[in-house]
Amino acid sequence: MSTPPLAGSTHGPDALRPLLAVVLEALHEGAVQRQGPLPTGGPHTVTTRLHTAAHPLLPDRGTGAEEALDTLVRALAEGAADPADPLCAAHLHCPPLAVAAAADLAASALNPSLDSWDQAPAATALETMLTTTLAAEVYPHPQDTPPDALVTTGGTEANQLALLLAREQHGPVQLICGANAHHSLARATWLLGLPTPQIIPTPRGVLDPVALHTALTEHPTADTPPRIVAATAGTTDTGDIDPLTLIADLCDHHRTRLHVDAAYGGALLLSDTHRHRLTGLHRAHTVTLDLHKLGWQPVAAGLLAVRDPHDLTTLDHRADYLNADDDTEAGLPDLLGRSLRTTRRPDILKIAVTLRALGRHGLAHLIDTVCARAHDLADLITAHPDLQLYATPTISTVLFRPTHATDHTIAHIRRTLLTEGRAVLGRAHADGHLWLKATLLNPHTTADDLAGLLKLVEGHTPR
Ligand SMILES: *Cc1c(COP(=O)(O)O)cnc(C)c1O
Repeated sequence: MSTPPLAGSTHGPDALRPLLAVVLEALHEGAVQRQGPLPTGGPHTVTTRLHTAAHPLLPDRGTGAEEALDTLVRALAEGAADPADPLCAAHLHCPPLAVAAAADLAASALNPSLDSWDQAPAATALETMLTTTLAAEVYPHPQDTPPDALVTTGGTEANQLALLLAREQHGPVQLICGANAHHSLARATWLLGLPTPQIIPTPRGVLDPVALHTALTEHPTADTPPRIVAATAGTTDTGDIDPLTLIADLCDHHRTRLHVDAAYGGALLLSDTHRHRLTGLHRAHTVTLDLHKLGWQPVAAGLLAVRDPHDLTTLDHRADYLNADDDTEAGLPDLLGRSLRTTRRPDILKIAVTLRALGRHGLAHLIDTVCARAHDLADLITAHPDLQLYATPTISTVLFRPTHATDHTIAHIRRTLLTEGRAVLGRAHADGHLWLKATLLNPHTTADDLAGLLKLVEGHTPR
């Protein structure tokens, strides 16, 4: 029995080339078969089709690389909810750029692991360049020491780390956040054994500074725990941005730590048109970024920017086989304290390639384009006699509903579109109603696509 070829070294590329041809063909044919933003028929049909195609998954005698790649990649593509389709617009689930996906292939082939320098010599240096570069975007005017950033699997891990760093600085902090905050923050307090969070109301979708002021002022006693405020720059449901400057002023006044979850909105920093929406962001102690949202990266591409790099020393960790003291003294970079993970993929490669390939202007163009499309969709909704717009979009999320439909009908419309394989729309509660949510992250989406989307909703609304 022959030993299958490896992906790396000088022979890897030759072994990969014919396999990649199979993968690309299967991706193409799967998308043609699917003919839309997601497969038709709903979960039972999709599961049955997948089982039939993929069985047996562990045969005694393997089917060979070409057959397995063709079968399973085709099945996955045929059954995908594909964010590259303009009508797949439910979540902060972005269509990755081809250039980023190509770079990710190199990351898989080389397989550097960022837990020790001897597994990732150049990747270590690239990660440092990238985290320094992005931290400087968030904190352009460093005070004493330059800011830093950790690479994470996404916003959830970045939010967890933000609360962990706060706990290590101040003891068991109580989280104060808006009702609009991402669920991962409250979950992180549970994980870290922190007190129950205090939730501040968010009328009109954003954290109410008056209520925050009251919460911060209320009778501090000897046993009031230290606190951390978390604001959101780009909420998951509506894309709203909390009033960052007012919140930072309150936190300064009350000497309270501030975290901003900018998983969605953080990339606006790169756009001359939209950067002003993030005024005040640099005043946060920590900032969550997530380039698999508004950054067109394949998952995973999260970061936590940290204003004071001294906060990170609490993550220092020793494991003799990875960062022995004498190795560190001899000059080998010590990376174990850059994450709570051990083995760690070089997710920085695809991000670095994208930043360099598109540049600031190229990325700003993508950001400005999807924000403009959201305004186009909002205009179409406003002009439509039977549709209601929730609010002018802040980033690229648009909430709307058929004017006379009940919440039950709206939920049903969404599921029907999913089952029929016609469109992937999200849902969100706001102002006491259920709304359909379109999160526009596809820069190739046209005004015609959006008109088509509204026609579909209209056609599924009972009269
Ligand atoms: C998506 C999101 C997160 C979580 O990020 P993951 O990458 O899914 O872990 C956190 N905060 C906000 C505001 C988000 O939209």
